[in-house]
Amino acid sequence: MARLSDPVTILKGVGPTTAKQFAQLNIFTLGDLICHFPRAYEDRTKLTTIEKLEVDKPACFKAMVMNTPRTSHIRKGLDITKVQVADHTARLNLTFFNQKFTTEQLQYGKEYIFYGAVSGDFIGYNMTSPVFEPLDAPPITTRRVLPLYPLTAGLSNASVLKAVRQALAICDPPEEILPEAVRREYGILGADRAYYAIHEPSSMEEAELAKRRLIFEEFFIFSAGLALMRASRSQKSLPPYTDCDLSAFYKALPFTLTGAQTRAIGEISEDLRRGAPMNRLVQGDVGSGKTMVAAAAAYLAVRNGHQAAMMAPTEILAEQHYASLSKLLTPLGIRVALLTGSLTPKQKKLTRQAIEEGSADLIVGTHALVSDSTVFCDLGLVITDEQHRFGVSQRSKLSAKGEDPHILVMSATPIPRTLALLMYGDLEVSILDELPPGRQQIDSFLVNESYRARINAFIRKQVAEGHQCYVVCPAVEESEDLGMKAATVWAETLQKTVFPDLRIALLHGQMKGAEKEAVMNAFAQGSADVLVATTVIEVGVDVPNATLMVIEDADRFGLSQLHQLRGRVGRGKAKSYCILTSHNRNPETLQRLKALCKTTDGFKIAEEDLNLRGPGDFFGSRQSGLPVFRVANLSCDLQTLKLAQQASVRWIDTMGTEGSPEGRALRSRIRELFARAQGTMN
Ligand code: ADP
Ligand code: MG
Repeated sequence: MARLSDPVTILKGVGPTTAKQFAQLNIFTLGDLICHFPRAYEDRTKLTTIEKLEVDKPACFKAMVMNTPRTSHIRKGLDITKVQVADHTARLNLTFFNQKFTTEQLQYGKEYIFYGAVSGDFIGYNMTSPVFEPLDAPPITTRRVLPLYPLTAGLSNASVLKAVRQALAICDPPEEILPEAVRREYGILGADRAYYAIHEPSSMEEAELAKRRLIFEEFFIFSAGLALMRASRSQKSLPPYTDCDLSAFYKALPFTLTGAQTRAIGEISEDLRRGAPMNRLVQGDVGSGKTMVAAAAAYLAVRNGHQAAMMAPTEILAEQHYASLSKLLTPLGIRVALLTGSLTPKQKKLTRQAIEEGSADLIVGTHALVSDSTVFCDLGLVITDEQHRFGVSQRSKLSAKGEDPHILVMSATPIPRTLALLMYGDLEVSILDELPPGRQQIDSFLVNESYRARINAFIRKQVAEGHQCYVVCPAVEESEDLGMKAATVWAETLQKTVFPDLRIALLHGQMKGAEKEAVMNAFAQGSADVLVATTVIEVGVDVPNATLMVIEDADRFGLSQLHQLRGRVGRGKAKSYCILTSHNRNPETLQRLKALCKTTDGFKIAEEDLNLRGPGDFFGSRQSGLPVFRVANLSCDLQTLKLAQQASVRWIDTMGTEGSPEGRALRSRIRELFARAQGTMN
């Protein structure tokens, strides 16, 4: 018996040349080969008769060769071989091009299995270049479900097939990692059967079953890995919070919390009571009320004698949080402080002193919080807002200022729950899937260029009524990608030719931080009428006076992103609007955009985006940290992911990975999968 780690060169027919071709496909060992799964299958199982062959529908049939094949040399590089075959129903002429060598082996009077499609013309039926095998030879290319492998130059499907078949014959497939109970519950094939059947399925159905098993397995390993990571972290111990009475907090609120907010706060206080560091993501659409959830957490931390810090990505956001949190919490006896880069040196010094002495309880700030000169007295809870704007390093720097503080991350990007579990796999997730009552709808429209004059008039009307507008462009500067509106150019056009009398401001990601802040501040204070921007405004400020957003070339954005952008308006009392422009004519694209105009449910939109565009958009450049799945595909196998997740979490909770052979095998597969993820990070 060979081992999975043995090199492919031990196989018959695999010399240095073939080995090099395999290496192109990252196949070095027998294990790699066995895990080189077909990309598709061709069903060649059905046997029919010549009479029943249908035009252009390939099928297998048994037939006898009725004459000796004859090859004519037409010209250089073109040989044509003709032969006639027959079964009890009909005769059929076969034509082969440049296959003199193989076709001349067809023997007069002998029976073969052919696989091909007939083409019809006025003379009669004909078949070109069918595949064939002698009736008495083992089926390799006919009478079976044929796997089609990913290939590389010089490597044929047949040689991969032969190599895989040999490998499966001389070594055992990867060990079983799924406990029998799980396999039974989810109707999952065993490993030995699945690894064989994925290459040699007896039917298309079996191929499907094998594939399902392997996808399940992959997700199971992945989720089990995350569950173990979570479990190992929560073994650290912290003094549990004993005082989790929130009644005074609830009384101080100017409104009743939504069910989702109450649920999230409940989950948080349970975390805090547990005596292990909390790691929780609160995810909620724009306006779902994340700040109040964070406030409750901060309130609990302070009541239990610790400091809490809340880090926001911009000064304006920090100031806004500071304003609303101090209004709510100061009457409850909590001392709230603000620390941002734009404080005077003296203010900063005083605030830092208060933080160090412990005379500030909740500190709201920007990344000034993580600077070396900020020392906390007893930092027990770290809250980061709009998490995806922070690098992991900034988050962990802030955490490092306390001793294993509780961590609460807030994100406004609605991500389908399944993906959230992948992206923030080491975090627990609370979802705010409910908006406070009485939110006004943003009316959204999709228009084409013929509406330009009306759009401009509408902008003018909003401004005349004392409101402000955003105009979002997909690019910063004109680029080779023509037809994509560039913010810089568009801002200039608007200012010079369309609205010479209005105050147009420009904001984009290539501007310096301070410059951006200044523009944003000015807009927030009402000193510009129209802000032309790129997606940098996606996260951040609350300008309740902005009532209109025009998104240029909206088809260039993902649906979730459009939804995020749209959330920048509709924050005040006045009726708000979002206009999407597009000159795209693709009916599907337009359909998507129209759907966005009709719904305001961020999670629904995110699911839709996921189905349409796959998970790439959600992961963006951070996809790097994710494992490379061999069979599984995140955008279509979500249902299986959910099941596998359920199964793995339950299994780890009840059994752990100690003591069983599956557990040991699982651990080694987890290591392997995450090592592969690391490997792709560069
Ligand atoms: P998010 O950060 O999730 O986008 P915020 O926390 O900024 O949302 O809340 C948006 C607005 O809704 C704020 O003005 C907040 O005071 C208000 N708000 C939050 N929760 C509720 C609630 N349960 N009922 C009414 N208004 C609420
Ligand atoms: Mg917020």
